[in-house]
Amino acid sequence: MYADVILPIPFDAFTYSIPRDMETVVKKGSRVVVPFGKKKIYTGVVLRVHEDAPADVLVKDIHEVLDAVPTVSDRQIAFWQWMADYYLCTVGDVYNAAMPAGMKATEKKETSRRRKKVATVQAEGVKNTLNAAQQRAFEQINDSFREKDITLFHGVTSSGKTEVYIHLIDKYIQEGKQVLYLLPEIALTTQITERLRNVFGDKLGVYHSKFADGVRVEIYSRLLSDKPYGLILGARSSVFLPFRNLGLVIVDEEHETSYKQQDPAPRYHARSAAIMLARQYGAKTLLGTATPSLETFHHAQNGRYGYVPLMQRYNDMQLPDIELVDIKRLRHQKRMNGAFSPVLVDAIKEALSRHEQVILFQNRRGYSPFIECRTCGWVPRCEHCDVSLTYHKGTGMLTCHYCGHTYALPPRCPNCEEADFSTVGIGTERVEDQIKELFPEASTLRLDLDTARTRAAYERIINDFASHESDILIGTQMVSKGLDFDNVSVVGVLDADTMLNQPDFRSYERTFHVLSQVAGRAGRKKHKGRVVLQTRSVDSDIITQVVGNDYLSMFQAQMEERRIFRYPPFFRLIYVYLRHKDNRVLDSLSQTMASMLREVFGDRILGPDSPPVGRVQSLFIRKIVIKIENGASVSKVRSVLCAVKQQMLHLPSSNGLNIHYDVDPV
Ligand code: ADP
Ligand code: ZN
Ligand code: ZN
Repeated sequence: MYADVILPIPFDAFTYSIPRDMETVVKKGSRVVVPFGKKKIYTGVVLRVHEDAPADVLVKDIHEVLDAVPTVSDRQIAFWQWMADYYLCTVGDVYNAAMPAGMKATEKKETSRRRKKVATVQAEGVKNTLNAAQQRAFEQINDSFREKDITLFHGVTSSGKTEVYIHLIDKYIQEGKQVLYLLPEIALTTQITERLRNVFGDKLGVYHSKFADGVRVEIYSRLLSDKPYGLILGARSSVFLPFRNLGLVIVDEEHETSYKQQDPAPRYHARSAAIMLARQYGAKTLLGTATPSLETFHHAQNGRYGYVPLMQRYNDMQLPDIELVDIKRLRHQKRMNGAFSPVLVDAIKEALSRHEQVILFQNRRGYSPFIECRTCGWVPRCEHCDVSLTYHKGTGMLTCHYCGHTYALPPRCPNCEEADFSTVGIGTERVEDQIKELFPEASTLRLDLDTARTRAAYERIINDFASHESDILIGTQMVSKGLDFDNVSVVGVLDADTMLNQPDFRSYERTFHVLSQVAGRAGRKKHKGRVVLQTRSVDSDIITQVVGNDYLSMFQAQMEERRIFRYPPFFRLIYVYLRHKDNRVLDSLSQTMASMLREVFGDRILGPDSPPVGRVQSLFIRKIVIKIENGASVSKVRSVLCAVKQQMLHLPSSNGLNIHYDVDPV
C-alpha cells in the first residue's frame, strides 16, 4: 500500500510506502511523519491511499502516524486542492499556510495540558435592541438567504451592521450551526472581540496568524474536540480552520483589498475563499460593507447575490458633510499652514474648544517621503530597491519602505559635498509635528506602521483614543478601517491626491472606499460630524462622488472604464511576476515567456513591463498581464500556465529565475 503525502514545501504530493503494521491506521487526512531528501523529516498529510507503486523512484517508508483518527477532513483537503488549483500554487503551499506550526511538528505534543486559565466572561446573550431599520435588514437578510447563498449587506458607516451580525450569529448558533466572522485586519478584531465576548462568552474563539503558535494550536484543537466553538472571529487564515457544521460566513468590510494575501503563496483572496468554504458546507455568506467592491455590487445587480441595504445611521445621525478644499489654489495664494488649510485649522480649533476629538488622515508614514540636496538635486535611494528613501525624524534615519533597510542621514551630499538638504513631502510624523506647533495644548496620538508595530501597541493607541486620553489621532489608512469612536466630530483628509494618482486600474475605486470610510469615522454618536477633504483635484469625478456620497455614480463610471479597458469584473486578470538579479537576463527570459504565452493567448497577453518599483531586495522585476474573458475555461488556462512555467524553469538560462502567478490581483 502507498500513500501520497502533502508536505509543507512548495510541491504537490510525494508517494511513500505504508509499512504493514500501519496499513489500517493510515487514511486520507492522517498526519504522518516521513523522511525527505538526505536528512529532513516532515509531518505531512495523506492525500490518497492507493496500490500503484511508482515505477521510477525509490519509495521510502512512512515513519510514524500521528493521528488515530484523521485530523484533516475530506472537506479541508478538497478546499486545499481547490485553492492550489485556482491560485496556481501547490497544495504544499496551502498546507503550509493552513495549519499552525504545532500541528506540523514531527513529534506528538500534548498541547492541551498547559491550557492557561482564561478569565471566564459571563455571557449576557443577545438583548432585541435592534432599531426598526436594523430589524428590517435582519429580516431581509434571512429572506434573501432562502433564495440566495450569498447576500450583500450594504449599510452606510455607523448604520449598526455589527449589531445585525450579532443577531444573525445568535440565530445560527441557536440552530446548532457554526459561524465564521471574517475581518480584513487583525487590528480590527480588538474593538469587536469585546462586543462579541460579552454576548457569546466562551462560545467565541478568536484566531489569526499573529497569535503565538500555541494559542493557534489550542483553537484548532478545540474545534476538533467535542466542545467546538460556535463562533470564530478571525482574519483571513481562519478560512482554514476545521469547521464541523458551518452555517454562516460573515465577510465584514468585504471591499478591503487586504483580504488578498500578497506573499507568500497561496496568494488567495479570503472573500473568494470564504464563499468557496461556505459552498462546501451548504452555508450562507454575508458580505457586509458601506462601500461594496465593484465585483460584489455587480453581482448584487445582476441577481447572483441577494441585496439588503441599510441607508440610515443608527440613532438617525446624519452622515457628515464633506467640505472640499482646493489646496492647489491655497498654496498658490500662500495661505496654507504646512499641510493645513485655514478651514481645517478652524474646524480643529472648534472641535477642541468643545472637547471633541479629531482624526487626521495622511496616507504616508514617516516625516517626509524623500529628502533632496538643495544644491544639486541629489535624492538618496535604497541600494537594494528602485525607490527613494523616506526620512524618519524620530529615528533620524532614512528608511526603505519596500525592504525595510535603514540608512544614516549623510552629513553631506555625496554628489556635491554641500550639507543643505530639504525634506520633500509630508508624512504622518510631520503632520504630528505641525499639529504640535499649531495646537500646542492638544495631545496627539499617531497610528501607523511605525507606532503600531505590535498588536499590543495598536490596542494601546486605540484604547487611549477611545477613552479620550488624547484629542487628535493622526494616521495612515489604519485610521479608516471600521473603527468606532463616539466623540470624533472632525475628520481631516490632508491630501487625497497620492491615492488618486497611483498607476493602477483600481486606484479610483480604492480612493472612493478609503475616503468614504475615513469620512465615516466622524459624527457617529453625538452630533453630525464634519469632514474636511483637502485635494489638488477638486474637479475629479471621484472626489465629486465622495463628497456627494454617491456610490452609484462611482460604480457606473468605473464599470464603464473597466468594460472598455477589459478589466474585472468583465475580464479575469492574472499577473505573472518574474524576478532575477541580472536585469539583462531577466529581460530576455521575460520576453521568451511572453512569446510562449502569446502563442496560446494572443492579444490577451500584455507586457512584459517593469512595474513602477522595478527592483526590490536586489531582484529586478518584470510583470506580464493576462486578461481572460469571463466564461473561458479556467482549467484550460491553468494547465497552459503551469506548463509554460515548467518549460521556463527548465531553460538552461533560467538559473536564479523566480516566477509566480497572481490570480485576481487587487
Ligand atoms: P457599522 O459597523 O455599521 O459602521 P456599528 O455596528 O459599529 O456600525 O454601530 C455604530 C454604533 O452604534 C456603535 O457604537 C454601536 O454600539 C451603536 N449601535 C448600533 N446599533 C445599536 C443598537 N441596536 N442598540 C444600541 N447601540 C447600537
Ligand atoms: Zn548635492
Ligand atoms: Zn529597499
